Parts: sequence; C-alpha cells; structure tokens
Amino acid sequence: EGAHVTQPKLKQEDIFIAVKTTGRFHKTRLALLLETWISKSKAHTFIFTDMEDEDLSSGGYNMVVTGCQSDHSQQALSCKMSAEYDGFMASDKRWFCHVDDDNYLNPEALVSLLSAFPQEGDIYVGKPSLDKPITAHELLEGNATREVRFWFATGGAGFCLSRRLAEKMAPWASGSRFEQTSATIRLPDDCTVGFIVEKRLGISMVHCSLFHSHLENLLLISHQSIPHQVTLSYGMFENKMNSIEVKGSFSKEDDPSRFKTVHCMLYPFTSWCP
Ligand code: UDP
Ligand code: MN
Repeated sequence: EGAHVTQPKLKQEDIFIAVKTTGRFHKTRLALLLETWISKSKAHTFIFTDMEDEDLSSGGYNMVVTGCQSDHSQQALSCKMSAEYDGFMASDKRWFCHVDDDNYLNPEALVSLLSAFPQEGDIYVGKPSLDKPITAHELLEGNATREVRFWFATGGAGFCLSRRLAEKMAPWASGSRFEQTSATIRLPDDCTVGFIVEKRLGISMVHCSLFHSHLENLLLISHQSIPHQVTLSYGMFENKMNSIEVKGSFSKEDDPSRFKTVHCMLYPFTSWCP
C-alpha cells in the first residue's frame, strides 16, 4: 500500500532551456539576454546558433553551434529545432523549453507553471499563434495530400514539452526525422512540433496565456501581472516598436525592449540596476 513514488519537487535546473539565435544577432539580441535572465539560469540554458563566438564560449555559456544554414528558411529553422530537441534528449533534464532570442524568460514563473502539471504526464504547453487550429496539407505517398488541422504553440512566444512526451515524439522528431516531418507538411519548425504532438500522437496542446510573442499587442500586459508572465518579447509590429509597458529604472531610449527594466523589477539587487 502507498507504493506510489512521489517525484521530487521540480527545480529550475531540471528544465532544459533552448535559446535559438543566429550569428548576426549575438551582439544585437543575445547580449541583452545574457545580461538579464540568462544570468539567472546560465547552467541549464543552451544557446543554439550557427556561428562560433569566442566571447560566448569563453564566458562559460552552453553553446551549440549547429551545422544549419544561417537563414530564415523553413529548412534552416527546422534544422535548429531538431538540434534543440536532440540536445534535450541527450540531457538528463525533465522538461524541454524553447525560446527565441527576443524573449525574456522568467525562470521562477516557469517553474511555477510546470510544477502544476503531473510531472510524468504528456505535456505540450504554449501560446497558440492563431485563434483557430492551423490547416496543413500533409504529403502522402504518390503525391497525394490530406488536409489536417491542429493547434501549435508559436515558437516566438516559447513553449515546453515534458520528457515523457518528448520521448514519444522520437519516431517523428529525432535526428533527421524532424526535418523530414517538417517537409511532409511544408510548414515551419513550431508548426511541426504541433503536428507531431496533436496529429501523430493525438495529444492536445495546453493553451497558456503566460507566454508572449511580439505578434500580439504587448501593451495589454498589465504592470502587476509581469512577475507572473513566463515569457515576454519585443519587436517591430506594423512598423512600430511593440514592447511591454513598464515604468522603472530605464528610459525607453536606454531600454527599448523593456527587458532591463523588467529584470530590475524582478531582481532589484542586480549590480547594474539603479
Ligand atoms: N533566426 C535564425 N536564423 C535566421 C533568422 C532568425 O535562427 O536567419 C532566429 C532568430 O534568432 C530568432 C528566431 O529565429 O530566435 C525568429 O527570428 P525573428 O525574431 O527575427 O523573426 P520573427 O519570426 O519573430 O519575425
Ligand atoms: Mn521575433
């Protein structure tokens, strides 16, 4: 009796955080993340890029230089996602989370979110980028196609997978298979993850509003909710800067992304915070 084994409490180090970047964004985007949230999660954050960088490797960061092409093509991006997945599978971590290099990730909010799920469950959690499932045309044998509908978590907002689910994805995601699956539906990497989980495995994505990309209006995030958000973002939207509204330490000129201001709000004792 009572033979069930309870999992130890989830810790930050149990989460494999994959950050996707590219050589030309090391100074313009990645540097800001290293100064802010990655400084709090360095040991379990893995930076997937396409260019060697002495400054990064000598700084003790976990760098993975993929042999992927350094463009924004579907193939290049699927190649990077595939490397992220394989990197996680080879690790001993309990959760896989992906973010882009224009995301702020709050490691404490992330642990709170993931702790609330059954740790041995099949979990795929993130923010849908559309308000309805995407329609894809899956290529079948002999050039036939089939219409498929499924939800996917937008990569630009970040998403997570439990280890148990990631293991079940292997027949369509490991090694060269991720790129093959992506080619089958002719859609980008993040859609491919949704396709594998929802259509190949029949498991539903968990929709979560705590992940944010710059494709949504970031001004709508309230000031007091910021500490609870799992990810934030910034970027140009319809020719205007889309960023969260947060008052504090830095002006919009000194901190256009607002990531420094958020970081000082969450970690006020950081040396460079006023
Ligand atoms: N990215 C990349 N290679 C490229 C262009 C972009 O790996 O040639 C990465 C970039 O570092 C980021 C993600 O892809 O993590 C999304 O890029 P971006 O934010 O520029 O575009 P979006 O799709 O958000 O408009
Ligand atoms: Mn982006």
